[in-house]
Amino acid sequence: MNPEATRCLLCKNARCTAACPVGTDVPSAMKLYREGKLSEAGKLLFENNPMSAITSCVCDWPRMCYGHCILNAKNAPIKWYEIEQELSRKYLLEEVSLAPGAPAGKSVAIIGAGPAGICAALWLAQKGVKVDLYDSFPEVGGVLKYGIPDFRLDKKLVDAYAGILKGLGVAFHGGKTLGKDLILASVKDNHDAILLAAGAWIAREMRIPGEDNPHVVHALDFLTEPDKFALGHKVIVVGGGNVAMDACRTAIRKGCDTTVVYRKTFENMPAGSIEIREAQEEGVKFDVFKVPVEVRTDGSRTYAIVRDCENYTREDGSLATRILDGTDAEMDFDTMIVAVSESADKSLMEGAPEGVFTAGDYAYGPKTVVAAVQSAKEVTADILSYLGLS
Ligand SMILES: Cc1cc2nc3c(=O)[nH]c(=O)nc-3n(C[C@H](O)[C@H](O)[C@H](O)COP(=O)(O)OP(=O)(O)OC[C@H]3O[C@@H](n4cnc5c(N)ncnc54)[C@H](O)[C@@H]3O)c2cc1C
Repeated sequence: MNPEATRCLLCKNARCTAACPVGTDVPSAMKLYREGKLSEAGKLLFENNPMSAITSCVCDWPRMCYGHCILNAKNAPIKWYEIEQELSRKYLLEEVSLAPGAPAGKSVAIIGAGPAGICAALWLAQKGVKVDLYDSFPEVGGVLKYGIPDFRLDKKLVDAYAGILKGLGVAFHGGKTLGKDLILASVKDNHDAILLAAGAWIAREMRIPGEDNPHVVHALDFLTEPDKFALGHKVIVVGGGNVAMDACRTAIRKGCDTTVVYRKTFENMPAGSIEIREAQEEGVKFDVFKVPVEVRTDGSRTYAIVRDCENYTREDGSLATRILDGTDAEMDFDTMIVAVSESADKSLMEGAPEGVFTAGDYAYGPKTVVAAVQSAKEVTADILSYLGLS
């Protein structure tokens, strides 16, 4: 047994639970774990959050359960995530057994097989709804499969969902893109409802001169197929979120001299603090309060013009960043990887008939895996109510 379990106070109004976007019942699962009822604990976690094996690996615990543990007051918070990883990994890989519900005579098409689409498919199928799950990629998983690198997430966990969905009778149609191979109106003709869970895959541009330089690539393209890119030696990664951290840590594993350029400072980075620290430990350099304003190629040399930035407080008290004129410097690179945010392709919604729902990053913009699960839970309830099944 993980000794962390014996230190847990099993709080009545647990702060860790309150800080979890899916409200994980940590005290109940911890109690079962202490009693050696591992399958029961795994089931409890899975039923609330089918991605528990994954979120326990990729959540930013300092901002969630771990960071809110009451024992923080004594500087000794419980590492619940370690116990959740142990329980949920075993349960997902060895024990999950789900059966489809009695046929309800309704069908739903889900566009996007990321965490939101997978969870909604699992829950709907258990209510007897016939589910068709479509994705542009050949396999299920969304960002978990095609974004987050292998060194951070064991893909065996992600691949387990394909078998679980199959067992529930969910029909997965890989390599099918809405807007290209499928049209919303005809999908609707064949289903009672549609769930758009297509994530946020449109890379935001920096909108600077020279951005179309062939040495500039977008992080999602790079992370989807990292071996396709010849990065050269010197790599600049622009951005400070999860995507930027995965890009820089992938580049440094390829032996590149890698620098993250970020317009604010460390405390402002949206990336998890653990990821930032690990990137630093792995040798990634950080150049904060800097922003590229132009990309130039001069003969065989490619370089960015970067300017200094500073934070300031607006009149309404919010934090903003401004670029400081007269601070131009040149930064050479072989590849610049841009990770300055992503957005959802809202054109997919154009002319949407009644009965079209949205979830995950598609609905709320780039967030987290655990937020995608919570949003799938809410939208599943809405769809069931719309279908008259709740
Ligand atoms: C590189 C990276 C690292 C991240 N790291 C973390 C992390 O450490 N921790 C964390 O909690 N979150 C992290 N996130 C965020 C998290 O992965 C997302 O919030 C989450 O995956 C959203 O789930 P989703 O199901 O809404 O969308 P996605 O996972 O994006 O899945 C959407 C799916 O829809 C498909 N699709 C899109 N358009 C179409 C179309 N037109 N037709 C058919 N299919 C389509 C896509 O191919 C994709 O498979 C990271 C994100 C990225 C990009």
